[in-house]
Amino acid sequence: MYITAIYMSLILLRFLPLQIFINNEWHDSVSGKKFEVFNPANEEKICEVEEGDKADVDKAVKAARKAFELGSPWRTMDASERGRLLNKLADLVERDRLILATMEAIDGGKLFSTAYLMDLGACIKTLHYCSGWADKIHGRTVPMDGNFFTFTRHEPIGVCGQIIPWNFPLVMFIWKIAPALCCGNTVVVKPAEQTPLTALYMGSLIKEAGFPPGVVNIVPGFGPTAGAAISHHMDVDKVAFTGSTEVGKLIKEAAGKSNLKRVTLELGGKSPNIIFADADLDTAVEFAHIGLFYHQGQCCIAGSRIFVEEPIYDEFVRRSIERAKKYTLGNPLLPGVQQGPQIDKEQFQKILELIESGKKEGAKLECGGGPWGDKGYFIQPTVFSNVTDDMRIAKEEIFGPVQQIMKFKTIDEVIKRANNTTYGLAAAVFTKDIDKALTFAAALQAGTVWVNCYSAMSAQLDTFKNVDSQELQMKFQNPTLNIHN
Ligand code: NAD
Repeated sequence: MYITAIYMSLILLRFLPLQIFINNEWHDSVSGKKFEVFNPANEEKICEVEEGDKADVDKAVKAARKAFELGSPWRTMDASERGRLLNKLADLVERDRLILATMEAIDGGKLFSTAYLMDLGACIKTLHYCSGWADKIHGRTVPMDGNFFTFTRHEPIGVCGQIIPWNFPLVMFIWKIAPALCCGNTVVVKPAEQTPLTALYMGSLIKEAGFPPGVVNIVPGFGPTAGAAISHHMDVDKVAFTGSTEVGKLIKEAAGKSNLKRVTLELGGKSPNIIFADADLDTAVEFAHIGLFYHQGQCCIAGSRIFVEEPIYDEFVRRSIERAKKYTLGNPLLPGVQQGPQIDKEQFQKILELIESGKKEGAKLECGGGPWGDKGYFIQPTVFSNVTDDMRIAKEEIFGPVQQIMKFKTIDEVIKRANNTTYGLAAAVFTKDIDKALTFAAALQAGTVWVNCYSAMSAQLDTFKNVDSQELQMKFQNPTLNIHN
């Protein structure tokens, strides 16, 4: 499969759509500008893509608005038909899984095997899951005083701007478009400038699936230009954004200054992972490792503050170093490679600078700590012990393969320390004591709390995440049990 993938990627790059996708057609940018896209594993240019800006966003928003008008093919379509189109799209993604996974590896430095199994698997399941929702979006009847008959209807919002990051280019694309489309909205998507290729390929699949023109529009380009044009646009009804906290703030500000559009933000994290002395140590070490090093540490939910109870601290650190040293770094398309490059030079330098700050501030560098190889943005898997809460590596989002291990003594102390952050995305606790696990889950200010596992995700839970509530996920410890309620 790997050989086929490499071969196909070379052939495919000649035929990739590299333009702006509006009204189911490919367009050059109004300005005539293009931007370069690079392979982070070897720093070589892959191709040039049309660079969308305000004028292209205007065209895309017009197309999306027209597609949303009452009486349009999209608005008159049966809800079940919307579901069928999403199912069709899922089938096309499945058909082209190999191509899409290859593109994720070349464009985003993602391990081909991870892209093929995890990312593409999640995309296909999310599309199927949302397709099922399309004709099951029900309102309520309300027993209103005064003998009135009252009912509610869930209406689509309208034109949704969707701005996505580079760490999960295709998953983010699907997570954004699938819920919006199943509810009947139209969308204008801006992929990250580092990783536009799979989003553009999806344009051709969207057309092939039979979505009416203007329902999905894709404008590749940069944040301060194309991204800002979406967030400031007076005719965009909502913006959904995933990325950095700084840009999240800009988007909320832009919404306030323009038409008060709705905004959904999925930002960064510095998630605590608490390991009690009574935990199964093998399980805890492995999940703590994967919870941080998965995709080179470039995950918003990365468990990047690991608090370990004093009696097992030294043994946990020893095993974590052993685990981190096992990696094979290299070209993410090659079999046997377990860690690819960081996304670009900027992130690479930011991570190395934070590693240096850790050394200077007195953390103990146990392994790694520098770049790897002479080409590409590779960073050695790095483990720091003796980390204290005041260090930058304990406070700032590193977004790289750098593990921080801290020590704690009591449950009250660790709850306070875990909550002492401006972030609140995820958290985990490892213990065999259900009382400790539940106490911890209730006390922790985080959107998701995992118990004896990390990064457990699925379409059923993550697609329509309720931002106002907390999820608690516990892993069944007996592998022979498979309980479905
Ligand atoms: P970013 O927030 O700058 O970029 C994310 C998306 O927002 C991209 O599509 C970008 O073009 C767009 N964007 C940038 N500026 C914009 C603006 N002014 N208006 C509208 N859109 C804009 O993220 P980055 O620079 O690629 O990475 C920086 C940091 O962000 C990372 O180190 C990491 O901490 C965090 N990040 C988080 C996630 C996540 O999944 N939550 C993903 C990527 C990056």
